[in-house]
Amino acid sequence: MAARMPPRYDLVGGRLCLDFCNTTGDRRGDAEDRLRGYPDVVGWGWRSGILNAEEAARLTRLGVRAPTEGLVVWERAIRLREALSSIFCAVAAGLRIRPEALDVLNGELAGAMARSQVVPTDSGFTWLWAEGGKALDCVLWPIARSAADLLTEGPLGAIRRCEGRACGWLFLDTSRNRTRRWCDMRICGNRAKARRHHARVKAGAA
Ligand SMILES: [Zn+2]
Repeated sequence: MAARMPPRYDLVGGRLCLDFCNTTGDRRGDAEDRLRGYPDVVGWGWRSGILNAEEAARLTRLGVRAPTEGLVVWERAIRLREALSSIFCAVAAGLRIRPEALDVLNGELAGAMARSQVVPTDSGFTWLWAEGGKALDCVLWPIARSAADLLTEGPLGAIRRCEGRACGWLFLDTSRNRTRRWCDMRICGNRAKARRHHARVKAGAA
């Protein structure tokens, strides 16, 4: 069984943790969940750059050999995603964060921190994941840390939800005037434009 790699256009959030929240469905009509099992978690980790092809293939094999453990990681991934979506949607709307959601993030963060190491490089130091690309749940660690970094360092005021109908994807608005409204102009932006156009044509004909 091969890891299922989702399409590239899914990565529009600007941060790993926001892209992960955006795995809930497809904006083009069918609300198909991108994470339907452990192979999807691996595939997404590969697409988002957490894993390389070799690591993705190895983790997929491991998941086949240990299906129960893979299932548990998939359930944790979904739980983390629900918690992060709840947190970042609340931040985007200026609402209070649910403490239970933060508990889920902190639970995953504890595992991620336990695997974090500082190692020297040619020019200084960098983070390394102990067992990165090897442990079944290694895809979840950078996601948890990305969420913690965004919450502690911001920019919280730049977290937005797409205004596209039935979309609601999360993204970081890094536009100069903070005026980005769509997860992806080519998809949700164009659809909104087309709807406005149809409305105008209809109004003109009436
Ligand atoms: Zn959208």
